[in-house]
Amino acid sequence: MSNVIYLDHAATTPLDPEVLAAMMPYLTDKFGSASTLYSLGREARDAVEQARVSVAQLIGASPEEIYFTSGGTESDNWAVFGVAAANAKKGKHIITSKIEHHAILEPCHWLEKQGYSVTYLPVDSNGFVDPEDVRKNITNETVLVTIMHANNEIGTIEPIEEIGKIAREKGVHFHVDTVQTVGHIPVDVNSLHCDSLAISAHKLYGPKGIGAMYIRKGARVERYMRGGGQENNRRAGTHNVAGIVGLGKAAELAAARMAEEAQKLTRLRDMLIEGIEARIENAKLNGDRIRRLPNNVNFSFEAVEGESMILMLDMNGICVSSGSACTSGSLDPSHVLMALGLKHEQAHGSLRMTLGKDNTEADVERVLEVLPSIVQRLREMSPLYQR
Ligand code: PLP
Repeated sequence: MSNVIYLDHAATTPLDPEVLAAMMPYLTDKFGSASTLYSLGREARDAVEQARVSVAQLIGASPEEIYFTSGGTESDNWAVFGVAAANAKKGKHIITSKIEHHAILEPCHWLEKQGYSVTYLPVDSNGFVDPEDVRKNITNETVLVTIMHANNEIGTIEPIEEIGKIAREKGVHFHVDTVQTVGHIPVDVNSLHCDSLAISAHKLYGPKGIGAMYIRKGARVERYMRGGGQENNRRAGTHNVAGIVGLGKAAELAAARMAEEAQKLTRLRDMLIEGIEARIENAKLNGDRIRRLPNNVNFSFEAVEGESMILMLDMNGICVSSGSACTSGSLDPSHVLMALGLKHEQAHGSLRMTLGKDNTEADVERVLEVLPSIVQRLREMSPLYQR
């Protein structure tokens, strides 16, 4: 990456060289299919099973509860469609939040078209779902509660343990989108009281296009992909052996590094937040100051466009985003920022910077050197800015 300062780790992370090294044999000599009986295949199968153990260990699950998928989107889709299908006789009501990733929201919208009713819970101005709202909205018809662990745009960490207890008490399947948290903050399926969760390798220094779904033993979830009998007949398709090995290695490395990394990133995050607040007036931090991901910084700058800031930072070799990567191609303001109660202009003037393991204090200092003058120049050009 040479001179680039990469601050978009919530969108994707670089592949860790140790992960690449672990994957390489399965992209070259060890190319066998994990479903075959000869030794080349057995070797691949052993590697897949070893990865399953590593992923399970990272989240306090048992290996039989881990299913490999193509990533976070597939796992989230599987949870919504699979739980709805398996519990259709019980009812057709789903509870989620207004700030979920589209990987949850879009399947919910689709089910609404098929006659399901979906409750989209509001959040407060820091992005928190109120667990009592979950309790109040559960009915005899409710088959699924799905709430994200931490939000990808603003980094707010939801009170998942409390929500999980409520769902468990009421006997409703609880899915958690942990795409932004697994490998970064502790995730334990028993403390979260969840029945399923979604994992994506490329958010924890693993490869893109591979992920996993945890499904608690006994949970009623319809199979997702039909075909060969892979993944205990629940998710068919020839295994992406190299990808799975990469996810396993990334999980192993994350388990070993998490505590130290979270501490380092929290320090850099707070340095960046405080530095921006000290240097730029009319800058509003989005998301909760305390219960937030160690690597997330999200600000709205009055009277400037997020896109213009991105381009000007890019000219200075700094990669950031505004809103989430998936929606940044659209002109609609971020649904997450709107749910916090921000005005359209504030949502459009947002900038997300997400730190990663290779960022340094010097990177933060460079942003603090460049960003204030970019904001000032854009404000000078803006008819909206009142000085
Ligand atoms: N859920 C959240 C919270 C995410 O941030 C993302 C990716 O940005 C996804 C789901 C989708 O994951 P993937 O890119 O692996 O499909």
